[in-house]
Amino acid sequence: MTMIAHNLQQVRAQLVKASIAAGRLPTSVALLAVSKTWGADAVLAAIAADQWAFGENYIQEAVEKITQVRTLVQQQGWDAARLRWHCIGPIQSNKTRLVAEHFDWVHTVDRLKTAQRLSEQRPPHLPPLQVCLQINVDGGPTKSGVAPDELLALALAVVKLPRLTLRGVMSMPDPVQGFDAQQQVHQRAQQAFEHLRQSLASVPTPDGQPASAQCDTLSMGMSDDWEAAVHAGSTMVRMGSRIFGARS
Ligand SMILES: *Cc1c(COP(=O)(O)O)cnc(C)c1O
Repeated sequence: MTMIAHNLQQVRAQLVKASIAAGRLPTSVALLAVSKTWGADAVLAAIAADQWAFGENYIQEAVEKITQVRTLVQQQGWDAARLRWHCIGPIQSNKTRLVAEHFDWVHTVDRLKTAQRLSEQRPPHLPPLQVCLQINVDGGPTKSGVAPDELLALALAVVKLPRLTLRGVMSMPDPVQGFDAQQQVHQRAQQAFEHLRQSLASVPTPDGQPASAQCDTLSMGMSDDWEAAVHAGSTMVRMGSRIFGARS
């Protein structure tokens, strides 16, 4: 077994244990493997261990990797259509086209202008881009993410964009030490997410469904605070170093 497969096995077991301890179904927490800075070979090792969703921060690096990984997967005779690529890094305006063309998900939308560009640039042959709005529950005005009291307005505008599907909220608080402190800050994001879902129940998407129906994702928790995030209601933890090792 590769080290990556071993790490994945351990992470999955810990996630199951923590979900149950939090009174939640183990299937309610998805694992996003954050493969930034790691090569296509490392991604392939994770896929061999049945991990198909990957998070990337640096757009240019990711675009090359996405192509390489697809080729490697096809060479193995595996089904490349199972791959899901999530953009979890900041998006400059000049990178929206690459994101719209190559990714399945984006977690870091915090401005309407970015959302509009992504919707306009999403190629017609691809399904809508799955979007989480990044929320800033702990930082000052210079930190990425919308303030909690601006979340609903942004969501209502994003729901109207034809080539995006609003899937939920992403939170990346500054590191804090200790389970209780971590859980407190995660709970703020969870409350904002819950409030958003309630508000969207009476808002139709362009195809007539309640916007809350697909808004099911709270992307929260990393290698050092994932357990508190699971207790606070995260539905998708983003783990890099626990799976692939420490980044240099
Ligand atoms: C790097 C990164 C992660 C993963 O970090 P680890 O501490 O290695 O688990 C998760 N989310 C975002 C947005 C990141 O940039």
